[in-house]
Amino acid sequence: MSNKGHRTLVIQNGTLIDSNGGPPVENDAIVVEDTRITSVGALPGGVDLEDREAYRVIDAAGQWIMPGLIDSHCHLSFGQPIIPNLNIAKGATSPEFNTIRAAINAQKVLRAGVTSVSIPGGTWFTDVALRESINAGLIEGPRIFCAGQFIVTYGSIGDIEPWWVGTPEHSLGRLANSVSEMITEVRRQTKHGVDFIKMADSTWGDNQTISQEELSAVVDEAHRRNARISIHSRGSGSTMAAARAGVDWIMHADLATEADLYAVAEHEIRIIPTVTFLERAADVGQDYGRGTAELDLINRNLESAAETLQMARNLGIKVLAGTDSGNSPLMPYGELHANEADILVRHGGYTPMEAILAYTRENAYAVGLEDEVGIISPGKLADIIILDQDPLKDVRILQGGHHLTNVIKDGKLVALSEVSPEEKIALELTERLN
Ligand SMILES: [Zn+2]
Repeated sequence: MSNKGHRTLVIQNGTLIDSNGGPPVENDAIVVEDTRITSVGALPGGVDLEDREAYRVIDAAGQWIMPGLIDSHCHLSFGQPIIPNLNIAKGATSPEFNTIRAAINAQKVLRAGVTSVSIPGGTWFTDVALRESINAGLIEGPRIFCAGQFIVTYGSIGDIEPWWVGTPEHSLGRLANSVSEMITEVRRQTKHGVDFIKMADSTWGDNQTISQEELSAVVDEAHRRNARISIHSRGSGSTMAAARAGVDWIMHADLATEADLYAVAEHEIRIIPTVTFLERAADVGQDYGRGTAELDLINRNLESAAETLQMARNLGIKVLAGTDSGNSPLMPYGELHANEADILVRHGGYTPMEAILAYTRENAYAVGLEDEVGIISPGKLADIIILDQDPLKDVRILQGGHHLTNVIKDGKLVALSEVSPEEKIALELTERLN
């Protein structure tokens, strides 16, 4: 069975949550050849597990096996974590420094059991380079599906500088104030290899900063170029316009009305509510310098987001699980990527199994790999995690990677116990910051 000089991976025993939607089953064997799962169930004939040169065996007896987690909303290059004494101006870390830091962030994310991330916005084309480096095997990290800088109009999220500064080139947003400017920007970004376009409406959803006409034009252009498109949309107007324009998914939608969600359902658009960020910001935002006025808005949106979750569920809207990890100092890497599962259970009326499906099979859509990752079946890419506790009993055990015994990405075991020098630096930094 094994050829080409590398060993076949066999996971024996354990309880398998395969994310096909059925109940967990007692696992006999999962066989992984190269990057793909070749067999699930009874150990295929002709396999001699004693042949340790041909087979690497993981015994998962008493443990739980499931697809690797997918965080459908994570930023790796927004300048986090903030590093003390680094001589930089706000928003102007050098691209070179920022890229190396983002590479370390990627490793941290993978070691938390997150084998894919969807990145709706970053600095320059940092995430494209990161994706290429990981795919080329230069560095370890999750699969990356990324946008470039947000496309914004005056006053959208990311366009916060005062008028005498303007909208700097290095900011999170690329200013485009007309259909023609937006289309030019879509063309520039797709040329440079983004997987999707990130439009961005107002920060907290209090006004609509991008028109229906603009959104429809940008959706058409992105799709013509085989790129997907998503939007930061909290408000009612932008959510309705995004649904009608046919974006591929909407991030947040927390101030959506019932009519907006009807439109979302009718156009079969997915949403990524990202309540994890709101809840965390409401909890600890004050410690990170968020003011009272902003915290009031956060609490308002948080309350409304819980209603959105329930309405979305009633309307049969597909809800994907994302966290906004890395968007700001209060969202550290590695800790919160699985947190949305708990929110879906607590606020959305989801069963633990449904929350796990959102994090795996459903989230595969946000990384452009639907039916390729997020499921443990023959033929699928081998992204698998093994846990020492049952996530169906309590989805919170998925958080922080604290219950992982093994992470397999693309058929390769990720070293969890050996801490690399880069990881050591990252850990020390986190400690210093906390
Ligand atoms: Zn975000």
